[in-house]
Amino acid sequence: MKARSISSAAEFQAYCEELRAKGQTLGLVPTMGALHEGHMALVREAAQHATLVVVTIFVNPTQFGPNEDFQRYPRDLAGDFRKCEAAGASVIFTPNVEDMYLPGDATRVQVSGLTEHLCGPFRPGHFDGVATVVTKLLALAGRCVAIFGRKDYQQLKVIERLVLDLHLPVRVVGHPIVREVDGLALSSRNAYLSSEERVRALAIPKALSLAVAEHRAGQRHSGVLRERVVAAFTEAELRVEYVSFVHPETLVPYADEAELPQVCVLAIAVFSGKTRLIDNVVLGLDAPPIVPGARG
Ligand code: AMP
Repeated sequence: MKARSISSAAEFQAYCEELRAKGQTLGLVPTMGALHEGHMALVREAAQHATLVVVTIFVNPTQFGPNEDFQRYPRDLAGDFRKCEAAGASVIFTPNVEDMYLPGDATRVQVSGLTEHLCGPFRPGHFDGVATVVTKLLALAGRCVAIFGRKDYQQLKVIERLVLDLHLPVRVVGHPIVREVDGLALSSRNAYLSSEERVRALAIPKALSLAVAEHRAGQRHSGVLRERVVAAFTEAELRVEYVSFVHPETLVPYADEAELPQVCVLAIAVFSGKTRLIDNVVLGLDAPPIVPGARG
């Protein structure tokens, strides 16, 4: 089905209102494009909660640091349109920067607490950029169900918080992480990896699976488990930014001396070569990223 393509913010807002007035309900999937199967799973999830799916594609400059990859972030609008239409999206919103950040733009949305942990200290300003652009997109879309991936677990929690705090008429739904057969989480940034870096990155799902297995077997010592995961990364020559066990809702980390609870999140950020990769698993709830016996 051909999707309606909109690039003007005012037109997008008016069209969303028009659709609702006609009795449609909207499922919103905000993305930065270079879409893959993970994004498509979000589109299909959106279709289960709403009568029409709206995908937004916007590489948001304010969430990138000065030394990050804004300029070279992968872009493939033609491919994105094809994939969205095949997955059943009805509207695709591709605003330009000047329409999202108007001349004289002076407003930022800042979520505190949740953003102090995990990626927060390593990417100053990142979550302000995310919270701001998502608030703008939700303000334009209006009442909807918005789908976000648990791949960006901290981002999901930040968005849940801002929707609550700002009384936005939006229901946020988190979608499980979509992985390759060998366990690597799908990410637009995987395109940066050389084949050798891609092989090394497999230590991520392996280490997370090891942590799931040990936690299931009763290992509750945060420091011991953390050391295991760090050692697996070091052995694979992945540079560790953080390996943290955190509370699933507050994201407050458990100290190395702490005893881990039945359910907690193991979140990691590592570099394979120059590419920064993040991943996570909810210990006590999620299946291991690498299912024993599955083909790799
Ligand atoms: P991005 O375009 O990378 O900013 O991601 C757009 C949305 O897709 C976010 O809600 C991400 O969490 C989600 N997403 C990206 N990769 C995956 C994945 N492998 N599994 C599930 N959701 C994902």
